[in-house]
Amino acid sequence: MKIIIGDACTGFGVCEGIRPDVFEVNDEGFAEATDEGLTDADREDIEYAASQCPTQAIRIEN
Ligand code: SF4
Repeated sequence: MKIIIGDACTGFGVCEGIRPDVFEVNDEGFAEATDEGLTDADREDIEYAASQCPTQAIRIEN
C-alpha cells in the first residue's frame, strides 16, 4: 500500500488524529505518511482517513 499526500493538504491533521502512527503533520504544516509495513489490515483505517480529509488530499495506491 502506498499513501500519497497531494498538494491540497492544509495540515489540519484529521488524518493524524485517526492514525498517528501513519500520518504526521510536519513543521511546514504538511502531512507526511509512513506507509512502510502497512498491511491489508490497516487499509480500512487509511481509507477512512482519506475519506475524512477535508481537502481530499490523501490517495491510496495498491
Ligand atoms: S487530513 Fe488531509 S488536509 Fe488534513 S493533514 Fe491530513 S492530508 Fe492534510
